[in-house]
Amino acid sequence: MNVNSKPVLEEPKTVFFAPISHPSPGSVGKTGTWRTHKPVVDLDKCTGCLICWLYCPEDTIIRLENDKVSIDYEYCKGCGICAHQCPFDAIQMVPEG
Ligand code: SF4
Ligand code: SF4
Repeated sequence: MNVNSKPVLEEPKTVFFAPISHPSPGSVGKTGTWRTHKPVVDLDKCTGCLICWLYCPEDTIIRLENDKVSIDYEYCKGCGICAHQCPFDAIQMVPEG
């Protein structure tokens, strides 16, 4: 290496985060039947920050094309973590009716 040459810096790598679990039927069927409350997303409040998507332990937050979100009610267990984590109060837990 030429001692007068500047060190070549590597381009920073882009790191993508994504849920590592994926919903599938349990031994008693689809886990959405376990819910007593369901998360409802207010798309007018949702900014598409995807924090709920990162925190959902069941991977049942669905990313829409604009990064806003909807819920996979077939597998969402209604734990409420998404509503608790949303910094914009865009998810409300409502009783199953
Ligand atoms: S955390 Fe809230 S604002 Fe962010 S994507 Fe989820 S619902 Fe939208
Ligand atoms: S209530 Fe729990 S399981 Fe359902 S979408 Fe929110 S974080 Fe995921």
